[in-house]
Amino acid sequence: MAQLHVDPTRVRNPIDFGKAGRQAGYLKAPLSRDKSGWGVVEIPVISVKNGTGPTVLLTGGIHGDEYEGQIAISRLAATLRPEQVQGQVIMIPAFNMPAVMNDTRLSPVDDRDMNRCFPGNPKGTFSEMLAHFLDGYVLPGVDVSVDIHTGGHSMDSALSTNMHYVADAAIRDKTMAAAAAFGAPFNSVFWGVDEGATFTSCVERRGAISLGTELGGYGRVNVEGVRIARRGVDNILKHFGVIDGQVDTAQRDGSPGTRHMMVRDMSCYAFSPASALFEPTHVAGDEVRAGTPCGWLHFVEDVDHAPIEVLYPKDGVLWMAVAPGRVTRGDPLAVVMSDYDDKLAAG
Ligand SMILES: [Zn+2]
Repeated sequence: MAQLHVDPTRVRNPIDFGKAGRQAGYLKAPLSRDKSGWGVVEIPVISVKNGTGPTVLLTGGIHGDEYEGQIAISRLAATLRPEQVQGQVIMIPAFNMPAVMNDTRLSPVDDRDMNRCFPGNPKGTFSEMLAHFLDGYVLPGVDVSVDIHTGGHSMDSALSTNMHYVADAAIRDKTMAAAAAFGAPFNSVFWGVDEGATFTSCVERRGAISLGTELGGYGRVNVEGVRIARRGVDNILKHFGVIDGQVDTAQRDGSPGTRHMMVRDMSCYAFSPASALFEPTHVAGDEVRAGTPCGWLHFVEDVDHAPIEVLYPKDGVLWMAVAPGRVTRGDPLAVVMSDYDDKLAAG
């Protein structure tokens, strides 16, 4: 595991990650406010450790309005017993607690997207302080990280794991095998829009396997997304030998496993050219064709303004579909993934 210099954290942690058995408690993150100068925000953290084996970190709620991971990890944390485990499972089901309780993507404390705050700063904003704790005080002992996201209120997603295209072929193969074991219908290998400050990038810098997910969205709990998330965390623990059992990756449509896809560059994105009311043509997970309508932007306030037709940028499967009806110029309306191809990926 890569050891980097770490500044002292301001977050108090009741858990000794080196200790065997089940420990559960609350991180205490200081948040001085008008009515509570010495107040803290409490964040549940659970560690189950036994014998020898890898350490798996499961995180949910880094964006507060993404529910499936919060549910799946909370359920596992309530039931996983040390005698079932070889290695360690660290569970933080609702890490960005202010955003979780506010049901928003951004933290209401500092208006930051925590997943753009890494590797964080102990003396920075609240989100930066939490990001710094996760990077400096949890990740150094972690071998595998699964960070469960969805589209939140801004997007709906095809049920999928995702991972960066990592240049090291051995780590890439291990990550793709972990994604296949998680068992979502799709795994998207991607090169993001703005990735330097994400948690994924941080995990990779620490030398651990990093898997993300997109398991729903549209501001509601996705029923199949929860099923995939709950089965997926169990599958990951089985895949890495942390708990006993065979992984189960059968999909609801009868297909046996995960379809590996890629989102190679910005040519996979359709951004809105105007602020308007968007009429989409497909839902996330649908097959789509380049040059056919992704949807129409309507200007209902103006009788003479014809709708603007927006086209799909490429053939593939709709990975992410915009959630709100009313969109703003520059919002991504659709992100299309194509079947993974190692040669095209490396090019
Ligand atoms: Zn998210």
